[in-house]
Amino acid sequence: MSLLRDLGELVSSDRILTDELDRLCYSYDSSFISRLHRFIPDAVVLPRSVEETAAVVKYAARKGIPIVPRGAGSGESGGAVPVQGGIVMDMSTWKDVVELDVANMQILVRPGLVHDELNRLLAPHGLFFPPDPGSSKMATIGGMVANNSSGLRAIKYGVTENYVLGLEVVLPDGRVITTGGQDCRALKNVSGLNLTKLFVGSEGVLGVITGIRLRLWPRPPSRGLVMAAFPRLEDAPKAVMAVFQAGMLPSGMEIMDSSAIEAVNLYRPDLNLPLCEAILLFEVDGDPPGVAWQVEQIRSICEQWAREVEEALEEERMTQLWEGRSLVAAAVSRLRSEGTRAFIGEDISVPLSRVPEALRGIKSLADKHQIKVVIFGHIGDGNLHTAPVIDPDDEGEVARVQHLADDIHRLALRLQGTVTGEHGVGFVRSQYARQEHGLALDAMFQVKKALDPLGIMNPGKIFPSPVKGAEADGKGTASTAE
Ligand SMILES: Cc1cc2nc3c(=O)[nH]c(=O)nc-3n(C[C@H](O)[C@H](O)[C@H](O)COP(=O)(O)OP(=O)(O)OC[C@H]3O[C@@H](n4cnc5c(N)ncnc54)[C@H](O)[C@@H]3O)c2cc1C
Repeated sequence: MSLLRDLGELVSSDRILTDELDRLCYSYDSSFISRLHRFIPDAVVLPRSVEETAAVVKYAARKGIPIVPRGAGSGESGGAVPVQGGIVMDMSTWKDVVELDVANMQILVRPGLVHDELNRLLAPHGLFFPPDPGSSKMATIGGMVANNSSGLRAIKYGVTENYVLGLEVVLPDGRVITTGGQDCRALKNVSGLNLTKLFVGSEGVLGVITGIRLRLWPRPPSRGLVMAAFPRLEDAPKAVMAVFQAGMLPSGMEIMDSSAIEAVNLYRPDLNLPLCEAILLFEVDGDPPGVAWQVEQIRSICEQWAREVEEALEEERMTQLWEGRSLVAAAVSRLRSEGTRAFIGEDISVPLSRVPEALRGIKSLADKHQIKVVIFGHIGDGNLHTAPVIDPDDEGEVARVQHLADDIHRLALRLQGTVTGEHGVGFVRSQYARQEHGLALDAMFQVKKALDPLGIMNPGKIFPSPVKGAEADGKGTASTAE
């Protein structure tokens, strides 16, 4: 109760939650791990100003209480889950647009603004924020910055970090800093150490992001789409490579494997996707003649390997062709009557040349562990999403899916890839950090230690347990072997 009383002096009482039921709602995110364990915070606060945020952080630092920043909780890595209890800072209700500066192609927003809302308000100005997660209608801009999120346009437009001009951050001791220049509106800025990039992708372990200045991009006037059905899985990556080698950079290159096709056809039989080993979708954008030319080129490239190729330049047909891909996540559980998708081992990214090995490797791991796995994702940048379908009430399957996820992560590292292309390390992938980063992990931990010597910011995330041990015994080193 003293926590409630203390917080009540810092934040309006209607934005502090301490009831058990309310706190239970913050014990999960979209990760499978948060289905298996309950990590319940001691309190939840919903700040609406930088002063409130800083006051709560200062209080937590004084008392040594963990702070866990949270957006919409759509993350799939347990990043927003309070694994060591403490105070969850729910930033999702603080969603103002502070300044839309069309003349300077930028916008300053608060962290709770949802991605889809941002792009809807930018559309009348002919502008957009290109990164586009599949969770667009949920994900907050704060969560996207903290996870350096992206989506199917990353192949051409890059990821969130390419659009962040500056950040307002409450540091773990309660000080408030503005990165990217205190009053800077320039689109290019190489002054000083790039703290903006340090905080993008920091997953809440270095501070709470309270303001985000984003660079905006002109909305391209037209789009075109090619959908191609490949009888052999291995031929799909060949077509992707051939498109690059022909000098084109599509704005999206997506793959669905045979199980994704099967799931979508079960969910929406009217879409009647062609039965084959892989479907590829290529989206191009730009000026209308250029788009039409690229669509023709991509069609003829795909025809070398594909059984069916369809192109579309009309909005209505493009929407229909995209529909199957956009429904995969929802359709996955149709593969089994008692099945549900487990968000685990779902986000590896591998070098382009290793995509065929990764695709076949995942399939054989699925066979080994006797778990049905749907594969889809952003083949253009090697980012593959794997969706295991299990009965979550079957303990044997729950154990097998965790072994499968471990094998998938290790496969990615063996193929010179990464365990996460876009969803982040969080709680669930920290055990691979040493293998993936080597000594660089120590330097990361030194940065963490310098900014957060008490270790109150989102503890238990990004850094593997040996590092957590180092944190606890105050040695300030992460060099212990894993
Ligand atoms: C169906 C589905 C589809 C998805 N598709 C994609 C996709 O295509 N691409 C993609 O990249 N991701 C995708 N995701 C994952 C997820 O939506 C993204 O990572 C998203 O950016 C998380 O935003 P959020 O607001 O939900 O953040 P949360 O899940 O609440 O938090 C994520 C991390 O950010 C930290 N954080 C949140 N807000 C702040 C803040 N203000 N300051 C400091 N740290 C903060 C948290 O502590 C946590 O570590 C998908 C998820 C689902 C469920």
